[in-house]
Amino acid sequence: MKFGRLGAAGGVEVVERDPPEPGPGEVTVRLAACGVCGTDLEKVRGNYRTAGILGHEPVGRVDAVGDGVTDLRPGDRVFAHHHVACGHCAVCARGEPTFCPTYSRTNLDPGGFADVFRVPKENVDRGAVLRLDDTVGWDAGALLEPAGCALTALRKVGAPSTAVVLGLGPVGLLYARLLRARGATWVGGTEISELRRSAAVRGGIDVAIDPREPEAAAAAVDRGTGGVGADLVVVATGHPAVIRFAFDLVRRGGTVNLFGLPEAGSRLDVDLQQLYLRGVRVVPTYATTEPDVREIHRALVDRSLRIDDLVTDRFPLGSIREAFDRATRADAAVKVVVTGDAY
Ligand SMILES: [Zn+2]
Ligand SMILES: [Zn+2]
Repeated sequence: MKFGRLGAAGGVEVVERDPPEPGPGEVTVRLAACGVCGTDLEKVRGNYRTAGILGHEPVGRVDAVGDGVTDLRPGDRVFAHHHVACGHCAVCARGEPTFCPTYSRTNLDPGGFADVFRVPKENVDRGAVLRLDDTVGWDAGALLEPAGCALTALRKVGAPSTAVVLGLGPVGLLYARLLRARGATWVGGTEISELRRSAAVRGGIDVAIDPREPEAAAAAVDRGTGGVGADLVVVATGHPAVIRFAFDLVRRGGTVNLFGLPEAGSRLDVDLQQLYLRGVRVVPTYATTEPDVREIHRALVDRSLRIDDLVTDRFPLGSIREAFDRATRADAAVKVVVTGDAY
């Protein structure tokens, strides 16, 4: 089978290997689609050093089930979450499962960009395999994980009335649409790509501005928030200059959500006394949980959230390099997915 992985010298490469077999309590899934995430691009660029496994937004059909698996059958359409928390450590007990030490250790084998991948028993046991409703297509399914990340973040920062999303890439757009679906009265955003700004406006975002015009962006936030600043500013990009801009747009007592992966080793230069006197909260959030992915799935089924139009490009697994190239081109693509046989 084909498997897309991080090349030894960086970049992404396709290799042939034997498909994995499910052990007891495990399942294997035949790939339909897996989104290319910004973090996949950062791994390939060498800016995000983790286990280095690419592809964590996969949907497909159950291929085979191991001994003891009773609630899934071959042919079932599913999303499989790569990370699961242990559920009982001190971090989990305090309600921060995505920061559980077990969480980032668990993963799909060999990764989400594979014709067939294996879901480990601990993931299966903790509900990481979600059966998709017939009304949820493969494209929307491939957006469940990133949309879940936005919901997990939103749960942590509370329900804002007014919000600005800095960086309307795929996950920034999902976040902005979720804010709108969750009743925010005014949502603005900044984004260099015109294609992505128009996807924001199409999704009901009030205003999307080119960040190369910061005065125009600040003026729009003033107008949208009655001059007080936004309850929530989401930093959906890793650029330190953008993070600084967030402090100009947030209201007194408001929240800045560090949502996008920052550049490795980047430092933040802010006036701490201003931060103190203005009472601004800085809240980093990371990844998502099974309950939040399930809640996004319900929102897709009841149509309170529409996201499938964000997938603009599909490339078969054998062309994963082109998929990654396209995903770096903000002017040409919103969300890029890699497809397998089951698509
Ligand atoms: Zn992701
Ligand atoms: Zn834990």
